[in-house]
Amino acid sequence: MKYAYTKVIESNKDITVRPTVLCFSGLDPSGGAGIQADIEAIGQSGAHAAVACTALTIQNSQQVFGFEATSSQLLLAQANAVVNDLPITCVKSGMLGTTDNIAALADFLALHPDYHYVLDPVLVANSGGSLGNLETLVKAFAQLIPLASIITPNTVELRALAGEQDPERATAKLFEMGAKAILVKGGHEDTPDYIRNALYIDGVMVAESRCPRLDGEYHGSGCSLASFIAGRLAQGDYLKQAVQHAETWLFGVLQQAETPVENGQKIPKRF
Ligand code: PLP
Repeated sequence: MKYAYTKVIESNKDITVRPTVLCFSGLDPSGGAGIQADIEAIGQSGAHAAVACTALTIQNSQQVFGFEATSSQLLLAQANAVVNDLPITCVKSGMLGTTDNIAALADFLALHPDYHYVLDPVLVANSGGSLGNLETLVKAFAQLIPLASIITPNTVELRALAGEQDPERATAKLFEMGAKAILVKGGHEDTPDYIRNALYIDGVMVAESRCPRLDGEYHGSGCSLASFIAGRLAQGDYLKQAVQHAETWLFGVLQQAETPVENGQKIPKRF
């Protein structure tokens, strides 16, 4: 486990910014998911959020109408502008939008091997709307899998990334592809009364959590969970601790989630 922030504090007593997570994520105008979810969740975890914007999406709490991805040059320019400016100890990625952006992030991470990296492998919006070309995104994500401290797929993303329907075999496949740790989120499984998440490290299940299944659909729950984990890792939590903190926090903010319109997905109340 890395404590880069402690090193920064020791080497420069004038730095007062909290440990920082640099997010590579897209803008969701509804404020439920994407950049806003990341900033709010990371703020609540106690860390500071910096953002390199990957895409501007057009969507509300009910559906995605389209998006325009940032060029990979612009994306890297944003990230590089803050690298030596803030005490970044962790990177988190959500919607990346294009294979060029995925390759750019892989290049960026290769230059910063000391950062934690939380990979939320966003493929489609919870409403079902497209956030990129599914087939090419799945292939390109293979570059990021070995670079991540933890990957946080739901079971739909897990099956797509592994090309394997059985969740146990799909998890094993991601470890074969170089994954170090995986939090498999069970929200899309057919368990009407509860949601089961399972944390695997180095191929072994090390923790399992169950919470009651709340009514309705939520917009930005995956972004919020991954970002809170990133915020805790940035501050020095061990992986298992970070995940437990994040799951407890997420359940609370989903319980208080707000419904924007009758058919809209609920927006987690992260404050
Ligand atoms: N990032 C962006 C920009 C999005 O628009 C979405 C979903 O709409 C997501 C990420 C993933 O959201 P969720 O946390 O609901 O899976």
